[in-house]
Amino acid sequence: MRITSVEPVLLRGEQTYQSTPSGDEATDNGDWQLLIKVTTDEGLTGWSDVETLAPAAAAIIAGQGMSVMGFRTLRDLLVGQDPLQVEKLWDLMYVGSAYYGRRGIAMHCISAIDNCLWSIRSQAADQPLCQLLGAVRRDRVMAYASTLFRDTPEGMARAAGMYVEKGFHAVKFGWGVFGEDPVRDMELVAAAREALGPDRHLLVDPGWYPVGWKNPGPPPGRMRSRRENLELCHRLAEYDVGWVEDFIHPENVDEYAYVRANSPAPIAAGEQLATVWEFQPFIERGCVDVIQPDLSRCGGITVAVQVAQMAERANIDLVPHSWLTDLLTGYSLHLIATLPRARFVEFNVSQSKLTHGICGGALKLNSDGTVSVPMSVGAGVAVDEEFINSHRADK
Ligand SMILES: [Mg+2]
Repeated sequence: MRITSVEPVLLRGEQTYQSTPSGDEATDNGDWQLLIKVTTDEGLTGWSDVETLAPAAAAIIAGQGMSVMGFRTLRDLLVGQDPLQVEKLWDLMYVGSAYYGRRGIAMHCISAIDNCLWSIRSQAADQPLCQLLGAVRRDRVMAYASTLFRDTPEGMARAAGMYVEKGFHAVKFGWGVFGEDPVRDMELVAAAREALGPDRHLLVDPGWYPVGWKNPGPPPGRMRSRRENLELCHRLAEYDVGWVEDFIHPENVDEYAYVRANSPAPIAAGEQLATVWEFQPFIERGCVDVIQPDLSRCGGITVAVQVAQMAERANIDLVPHSWLTDLLTGYSLHLIATLPRARFVEFNVSQSKLTHGICGGALKLNSDGTVSVPMSVGAGVAVDEEFINSHRADK
C-alpha cells in the first residue's frame, strides 16, 4: 500500500472563540478549522483534526517546499511511502522539516498526519485502534464537560446546572474571565462548586497568560508570581478541585515542580508540550499529578503512547487534552482504553457549528456520565464529507 495524497482541508466558519456573559454555551474555534486527509492507493483514508494556525499549517503540508532535507513539505515527504510504517514516517517527517519545524505548527501537522496513519493502520488490520495500541482495559470512561468560564457567579451556576442536567459527573471551567479579578475568580469557582454539589468533580483551568487584560487584572503578558501560583492552588483546594490545569508558563519546568510539591490541589498540564524530549523532563522532575498530551499537538499517537509509558513509570495519571472535534476525542478514547488507570475523557461541550458539524455529534454521553470507546476501525468516528465540502475555504 502506498500514500497517494496528504491533503490539508481548510474550513471556514462564522463564529469566534468566546466565553459568554451568561450561562449560555461558550464556543471553541469556529472561524478556522484544519483537517488532514491521507489517502492511499488501496482506498483506505485517514482523517484528523488539528488545532493550530490553520492557514499556515496548510502551507507546511502542501505548499512550496525546498529540495533539501530539513526544508521539505510534509506531503512531499510522504507521497509514495507505505502508510503502515508509521514510526518510520514520523522520523522522516521530523527530519524532513527539522530546519523550520521540530515544534509549533510543523509538529501540530506531524501530529495530525500521524493520527491519520494510525487510523489507516487500524483499517488495514481490521481491528479497533485501541487493540493495536495495547491491552484494552475498558470500553467506557467518565467524561468531563469542558467549557469556558462564564462572567458572573449566576452564569456559572446556570452553566454548571446545565451540565448536571445533561448527566455529567464532572465539569471543567477554563480561561474566559478567570485571572482578571482574584476576588471574582473565587466567587465563580464557589458558584460552580455549589451548583455541582459535593460529589461531582470540578476541574479548573486558570490559563497561563491573561486573555482579558482588564483592570484590576494583570497587564498584558504578565504571568503570576510564585506566591500567586501557590495562593491560587491553596484557594482552589478549598473548593475540592480535582486539578488545577496549565496555569504556569509551559517552559518553566522548575516552577511547575516547586508549585506541585507545595500545592494542596493536584496539578495537571502538558497540552502545550510536544515530543518525548519535552515530556520526559516534565514528568521525571515531578511537575504534575496528571499529564495531558494533546494528540493533535504532542506528535500524535506515536508520541502519546510513549508518554503513557512514562506516566506509568512515574505513577501519575494521563488524561489527554481533547478540546476540538469528535475526531480528536475518538483518537483520545482509544488511547484511554489502554491505560492502566483512566480518570476522564475531556468532552468538548462548547463545539461551534463548524467543529461540531465535522463529525455531526458522533460521540454521545451515556446515562452513567461516561462516553463509550468507539470500537470501530480508524478514529472510531466518521466525518461528514458533505458538511466538510460545504465549508471548505477554497470552494
Ligand atoms: Mg487547558
